[in-house]
Amino acid sequence: MQTPALYNLTLSEIEALMRAWGQPAFRAKQIYRQLYVNVAADPAAMSDLPAALRARLRAETRMGSLALDQVQVGDEGLTRKARFRLDDGTTIETVLMIYLDRATVCVSTQAGCAMGCVFCATGRLGLLRNLTPGEMVAQVLWASHELRRVADEGSAVSVQPSRVTNVVFMGMGEPFANYDRWWAAVERLHDPQGFNLGARSMTVSTVGLVPGIRRLTAEALPINLAISLHAPDDALRSTLLPVNVRYPLADLLAATRDYTQQTGRRVSFEYVLLQGQNDHPHQALALAKLLRGHGAYGADRGVPLLCHVNLIPWNPLPDSSLGRSEHERVLAFQRVLLDYGVACTIRVERGMGIAAACGQLAGVLPPPPSQLSSTS
Ligand code: SAH
Ligand code: SF4
Repeated sequence: MQTPALYNLTLSEIEALMRAWGQPAFRAKQIYRQLYVNVAADPAAMSDLPAALRARLRAETRMGSLALDQVQVGDEGLTRKARFRLDDGTTIETVLMIYLDRATVCVSTQAGCAMGCVFCATGRLGLLRNLTPGEMVAQVLWASHELRRVADEGSAVSVQPSRVTNVVFMGMGEPFANYDRWWAAVERLHDPQGFNLGARSMTVSTVGLVPGIRRLTAEALPINLAISLHAPDDALRSTLLPVNVRYPLADLLAATRDYTQQTGRRVSFEYVLLQGQNDHPHQALALAKLLRGHGAYGADRGVPLLCHVNLIPWNPLPDSSLGRSEHERVLAFQRVLLDYGVACTIRVERGMGIAAACGQLAGVLPPPPSQLSSTS
């Protein structure tokens, strides 16, 4: 059996462990504070614990169950991608992005993904397994420790926030296909007695699983919602995102509209631009009409959706026949949306040189589909 990993334990499970070790009850809270408030990297740094307890923690527990395999550094030190090996040997990736005023961690929620979007590296893996809350939380703690290490080294990054300010669940996997465990991770990160990350500092991205959107609408914590749209009509969307067959645009937009109306919060739509596929001006216009309530889908005709569009030039995958939209086409697409009154930005790119950009996370590189089919 593996030694227990502290990030995999809830506060009451740490309390149970301390009881089993014959420790006073308050030790559990001290450990919890060390893990999430002081962000200790190791039991040795938990200076308010007796030396014997620190030693026992070191001998009989681990901090987390992610074994760091490799860190790749790009964007002159400002983007750092970690690859971790899990207890069962599968690998996942996490990306830390450092900006002047914030530090964002892109967290994986599953190893692989079952959704099969044709433009995504993770989708090529299929679903390997769901991550546990502790495995998601541990990715954020890795980023916290990494930030501190970078600051201590006084390396290239001279000005940087001292702690993680934002978490985006946009790494490997579909968060809403692992909702309960993912939500437990959100609550742990949010805990004001612990890591204390504000709900508005967390963003979840979904491929458009309608039940998940409806559950999130009912949650008390107001975390941000991003939805991967990528096409203005069902026919095209179903070829790019097979899940659209199950949750077509009318259902997706109805759930999104309910979300914005019930929460008063704006959603972001992500739109990956693929040259010649979904980046024509007429498609931009169709998208704009859809979101302004003038399109073919959606019941509330004429009522604009409270939203924002984030255009993502596609990040290439090896052996794919898809192409990345040229910059002029991206700008033209944006112009159509803006002219129609839809707020629209182009995502600032990070991590291209180290395959850490959106949709490039694959742990170990999967065989390209062309090779798979050539064996048949
Ligand atoms: N499963 C969730 C979250 C992870 S993917 C989702 O699909 O929303 C995060 C974002 O990266 C999504 O918007 C996804 O469509 C986008 N993406 C996937 N592959 C990409 C690629 N190769 N280039 C650019 N963006 C990509
Ligand atoms: Fe899964 Fe998101 Fe990739 Fe689609 S884009 S395969 S949902 S990770």
